[in-house]
Amino acid sequence: CDLGVASEGSFGNHPTVFFATADDEFLVFIDLKNNLEIIARNISLDTNFASETISNLPDLKAFAEKAQFPSHGIILKDNALKPKVIFKNIDNWSDLETAFYTLNQHQTEIIAETDMRAMRNPTRMKIIEQATAILVKKIKSTCPNCKEPGFEAVEILRGLPCENCNAPTRSPKTERFKCKKCTFEALFEISNDKKYEDPMYCDFCNP
Ligand SMILES: [Zn+2]
Ligand SMILES: [Zn+2]
Repeated sequence: CDLGVASEGSFGNHPTVFFATADDEFLVFIDLKNNLEIIARNISLDTNFASETISNLPDLKAFAEKAQFPSHGIILKDNALKPKVIFKNIDNWSDLETAFYTLNQHQTEIIAETDMRAMRNPTRMKIIEQATAILVKKIKSTCPNCKEPGFEAVEILRGLPCENCNAPTRSPKTERFKCKKCTFEALFEISNDKKYEDPMYCDFCNP
C-alpha cells in the first residue's frame, strides 16, 4: 500500500500558554507513489492529562474524579520511571480500589496516571477527530494548476488596514498558499468578514 496515515499525540506544557497543560496531536498523510506528505496539527487545552503520587484511597478517588474516571481510564503503577507492576484497563471503582490495595501491600506511595490511549480517553479522541477533520480538509484542497491534493497555506501575511487611518496593522490579512508539487502560489484573503482592523490595534492610532 502506498497510502498511510501516522498519528502521534504528546501531552504536557502548552507551547505558548504558560502553566497550561495541552494535548498536541499530529497527523501525517503519506502518499508514497506521488511523493506527497500532508500534515495536520491540533493543539488543545482540553485534556485531563495528569499524574500524581498517591498514598491513600481518598486522594486516589479525588484524582480519579478529576480525571473523569471511569469514562476515562486511569493507570496505577508502583514506580513512575521504572514500573514493575502496572494496572491498566481499570474501568470501575471496585477494580480501582482492588488495584490500589494490591500495590499498597508493598509500598506506601503509588503512582496514578491518566490513561492517554485514545480508546480509554474520550477527551483525547475528540481532539484526534478534530485533527482528522483538518487533515481531510487539506487533502481535499487541490492545486488550481496541477490538481495535486494538499494545496495549503504556508504563510500568513499581516497588514490588515486600520479602520481609522488605513495604515497596515499587525493583524493577519492574507494567506499564501503553495502547491507542493508544481510550486504554484496564490494569495487568499483570510476568510472572515473583517476588511479593517479596530484602531485599538493600530500602532499609529493607539501607540
Ligand atoms: Zn500544483
Ligand atoms: Zn490607525
